[in-house]
Amino acid sequence: MIVVLKPRTTDEDISKVVKLAKEFGFDVNISKGAEKTIIGIIGDNVYERRDSFEALSCVEKIVAVLKPFKLVSREFHPGDTVINIGDAEIGNGNFEFIAGPCSVESMKQMEMEAEFLSGLGVKFLRGGAFKPRTSPYSFRGLGVKGLKILRKVANEHGMKVVSEIMSEQDLDLFEEYVDVIQVGARSMQNFRLLEKLGGSTKPILLKRGFMSTIEEWLLAAEYLFHHGNDRVILCERGIRTFEKYTRNTLDISAIPLVKNLSHLPVIVDLSHSTGRRDLIRPLSKVVVVSGADGAMIEVHPDPEKALSDGQQSLNFEEFEVTYRASMKLYQMIGEFIWS
Ligand code: PEP
Ligand code: MN
Repeated sequence: MIVVLKPRTTDEDISKVVKLAKEFGFDVNISKGAEKTIIGIIGDNVYERRDSFEALSCVEKIVAVLKPFKLVSREFHPGDTVINIGDAEIGNGNFEFIAGPCSVESMKQMEMEAEFLSGLGVKFLRGGAFKPRTSPYSFRGLGVKGLKILRKVANEHGMKVVSEIMSEQDLDLFEEYVDVIQVGARSMQNFRLLEKLGGSTKPILLKRGFMSTIEEWLLAAEYLFHHGNDRVILCERGIRTFEKYTRNTLDISAIPLVKNLSHLPVIVDLSHSTGRRDLIRPLSKVVVVSGADGAMIEVHPDPEKALSDGQQSLNFEEFEVTYRASMKLYQMIGEFIWS
């Protein structure tokens, strides 16, 4: 870690920094320039003490030498991570779809979904049972009943269940009924939840917070790793910008960027990142060529009657066209993307 001192620092200022470093057991390397003095702080876990150095009035800024995340970084693990989920996998050159409604609404709805999606070859069935809704008066999901419905229909059709957890209190339920635990955009920085999920046996689908930088997102993944769970799938779901025609702005540059910085698989949620049914199909092609490992799309038997997010859900026919076009494109250019 490098401490850059403000211009015109005195020897007394320098000693303050050195004294603090020694107190923490670190070594120092002082470089006095005509304009600026910089002090290298050397030792284990120096970043834990970053705030103490930053608080000194003579300090202009702290420059990190290493990336703030380690376990999720490419340097630490040069090969691509593949997440095995029973007989399915995310990564490894596959392009997988995670599809299903925003919310689980009834057994009948989910039977239709599972039958249709599994018939197309989709392996991952999504559906929210505990819904994070901005208003407490909106439909907030069926809770445990929703998880049970998901499990039943997924088992009947050989699918894997993906569903969002909002509270660590529900972890036992998710361990029982779900194959991939989704952490939603609003919970990406719920650090207690992340710590708890670090102890889970299930893979985690970690959505990017809509106000989060890529670094914050990777640090959230680092929390999961640090607490013991190295089965993490990243999900770009759009970020909030000034643009009003879309619900969020799909940050497509995040895909190659994150693939560069990290070894984790990345998928793109086309429904939440656009908020618009008409943009899902054109953007699915972009996502296929972006190098992502898959896509998530909200699908509903009758989107106009959906209890949540109908405007960004495809009906079965629309999904089938999108799915087939994406898979065809992927097969055509897959070799090129991965070379
Ligand atoms: C969802 O997947 O239904 C959801 C609420 O997503 P996000 O957390 O990305 O808003
Ligand atoms: Mn939704």
